Amino acid sequence: MQTILSRTPPENLTQLRSFIGFVNYYCDLWPRRAHTLAPLTKRFLWKDIDTDASDYQLGAVIKQGRHPVAFYTRKVNSAQANHTTIEEELLSVVETLKRFRYILLGTRIKVFTDHKNLTHALTSFATQRVLRWRLGIEEFNPTFNYIPGPDNTVADALSRVPTTSESPLLKEKSPNNSRLKYSDPNEDAEMMFHATINSSYHSLLDEPQLMDCFLVHPMFDDEDRYPLDYRTIRDYQTQDQTLMDAVATQPKLIMKQLSENLQLVCFSNSVGVANNDWKIAMPDAMLDKLVNWYHLHLTHVGMTRLKDTMKTHLYHPKLDERIRQLVGKCDPCQKYKRKSSLRRLPPRHALVAPWYEIHIDLIGPWKITVQGIDLSCSALTIIDPVTNLVEIARIANKSAQHVGMQLENTWFSRYPRPMRCVHDQGGEFIGRDFTTIVEENNGVKLVPTTVKNPQSNAICERVH
Ligand SMILES: [Zn+2]
Repeated sequence: MQTILSRTPPENLTQLRSFIGFVNYYCDLWPRRAHTLAPLTKRFLWKDIDTDASDYQLGAVIKQGRHPVAFYTRKVNSAQANHTTIEEELLSVVETLKRFRYILLGTRIKVFTDHKNLTHALTSFATQRVLRWRLGIEEFNPTFNYIPGPDNTVADALSRVPTTSESPLLKEKSPNNSRLKYSDPNEDAEMMFHATINSSYHSLLDEPQLMDCFLVHPMFDDEDRYPLDYRTIRDYQTQDQTLMDAVATQPKLIMKQLSENLQLVCFSNSVGVANNDWKIAMPDAMLDKLVNWYHLHLTHVGMTRLKDTMKTHLYHPKLDERIRQLVGKCDPCQKYKRKSSLRRLPPRHALVAPWYEIHIDLIGPWKITVQGIDLSCSALTIIDPVTNLVEIARIANKSAQHVGMQLENTWFSRYPRPMRCVHDQGGEFIGRDFTTIVEENNGVKLVPTTVKNPQSNAICERVH
């Protein structure tokens, strides 16, 4: 709070807009912010728009129709500050998708960027980072669209929110930037501000292991190695003597310098022409592992999409054949493949979509002693089994009415209304008041279950 309070008051349009974006970053902590901010947004006509790309902040706004739903902005860390412009723009997309995964997953997403190259960056395989991010982005399957700078106002403003003091990063990157004004903040508060922003994201994207936590990558059966790491591929390639020999004899195989000290065997149909038409040659030892890995990562997609995805960046003469064989042997794929004109999808898609269903349960009571006083507390857990979003609401008693109110306050009033609410046969869930609140007031169907749903159960176990 100290950091926000110690900011210099905005003096012009750009700074005001930036300020609004800044406080929205903490939107979860701040009730009734739309009411409070309303006068700030009404008094001005927005027309003075700054469109420079920012090399120290990321910014994005999520809109539904013409209405902004959520804002995202944060500083880049020192490693990320060295990224190319296109990488920084892409990073904005990656982080926004990740931050708002719970409202974005499963919806149709159009990404608008004023960086024209980004609209085809995903296929041009610019760097190893881009390739890694691509996997994170693919899950959401967005389309990229070009929007001219002057139209990209909100996201642009968010990417250059002036902060309260010069961080070392800002000093280094924009020594003469007179547009930014810095007040003299309380030093402790300033450190905390940076700690919050940077520590939660710092190097997440540059550490495959950490990124795994977010994306739940399937395992690659080579301990501790990330299969798309250039070094991993290089090691596999150098062990493949046949491949290394083939470079000398096959004109379409070339050694390509992909970064300092690192060359990989690549395949190109137009050797000698300056273009992006090249793919990494997969050594034999990696072929099956990678097909498997991609197949799991893309959650058992069909052969066509698996081929398309892998072929964007990878080459092996037997790739098609191996994909056919491995997918043909995959149990879930065979079980759920289309048998008639009625299409059957894997169960995950067929049964549930995000926000469709919630599972609720009561846990506790726990007894704790605080300063000699014995306290007892119980909680209501609410889980979306698709996104694994969990909410835990403390309950004062187990009366049907109270539990119903907590469910309404914690979930129904904050997230998209589910169609079904699955619960076990506890007394509080079959009480008349509970049914009234859930079914009549909110239109959500109550689904009692005798056999506990194993999926929700597993999540519950972990929560408990
Ligand atoms: Zn499969």
